[in-house]
Amino acid sequence: MAATRAYLDYNASAPLLPLARAAMLAALDSAANASSVHSEGRAARRIIEDARRNVAALVNGQAEHVVFTSSATEAATTLLTPEWQMGRARLRMGKVYVSAADHPCLLNGGRFGAERTAHVGVNADGILDLEALAAVLAAHDKAEGLPLVAIHAANNETGVVQPLEEIGRIVKEAGGVLVADAVQAAGRIPLDISAGYIDFLILSSHKIGGPQGAGAFVACSDLMMPKPLVVGGGQEKGFRAGTENLAAIAGFGAAAAQALEALAGVNEICDLRDEIEASVLSRAPDAEIFGRQAARLANTTFFAIPGIKSETAQIAFDLAGVALSAGSACSSGKVGPSHVLKAMGHENPEGALRVSVGPATTRAEVQQFTAALSSLLARRAGKPQAA
Ligand code: PLP
Repeated sequence: MAATRAYLDYNASAPLLPLARAAMLAALDSAANASSVHSEGRAARRIIEDARRNVAALVNGQAEHVVFTSSATEAATTLLTPEWQMGRARLRMGKVYVSAADHPCLLNGGRFGAERTAHVGVNADGILDLEALAAVLAAHDKAEGLPLVAIHAANNETGVVQPLEEIGRIVKEAGGVLVADAVQAAGRIPLDISAGYIDFLILSSHKIGGPQGAGAFVACSDLMMPKPLVVGGGQEKGFRAGTENLAAIAGFGAAAAQALEALAGVNEICDLRDEIEASVLSRAPDAEIFGRQAARLANTTFFAIPGIKSETAQIAFDLAGVALSAGSACSSGKVGPSHVLKAMGHENPEGALRVSVGPATTRAEVQQFTAALSSLLARRAGKPQAA
């Protein structure tokens, strides 16, 4: 087992940022109930409201339109519901349209159920088929309610970035509502909910260096809101009941502030990712990098090398001190064929590996990856292990 570790799995969970950790520890020490009116309660409330402002700023939104949840998955399940309200009036969404390459928290249609969830395909680069989207929305039966469209801003496996502005235009023309899952996009590409083409954004704390177990959705206004998923006390203006997870929200807020600043460092991250891809292609010219022709997040590469099985490779990398992923890591350690690659038209997508870097990734970590890859490829070729 290698003594030094190289953590190259930011898309699964980014390491906790020191600032987020400090904010969490401070919050743990002042953990009163933020709904209490005494001084301690008001101090806790200030922590939450500071975090809310930071999360709003990350997407150029307004603090009062941020609803904290326990995860992005919970935020998605809250938003993917047929039942909505517009002020005091009830509003109905007839169907949800998701992309075939979405994260499972959208893919399954949330509270719509399978019969009211429709999947729109992606092309070979992983980009949503815009003509197909326009066609299904044109055929949507408005008598059943408005069409809701939910799509990832950037893919967790390939890093492919969706043309959200165009998608938003198509959705608006059809009189629909657009939810964008910005879990992987946040802090990696600029996001602007005030631009008018996205109605709701979904965020997750642990993908931007905050703690696990905190997420949010951000609305573009307070006109239209989903029926809450968790009901009880009036926290989060009644849109998400339950005493707030103060420490997690504090850490999320601190991470959001840093993620906004980290946008400036995206070129260095891109250099490291490109170095990884160059080392893969120079050692295995038969490797395929998925989504490479499309706009991608600067931190992500997803590739397959013929003759290399992802499970075996993942274990070999781990033994060599390199943490990376065989596709998405959200499903309890299961490694199966990637539904994302399947949606992109790959017949037997069993051998794919994902490397995802972040602001703390070093060149030494990339070199450790390259050395481990060389050993793996030497074994593939049946040669003795290279040093
Ligand atoms: N959406 C995307 C694109 C993701 O990558 C993930 C997690 O990997 C999620 C949603 C779910 O986030 P959470 O872990 O906060 O539920």
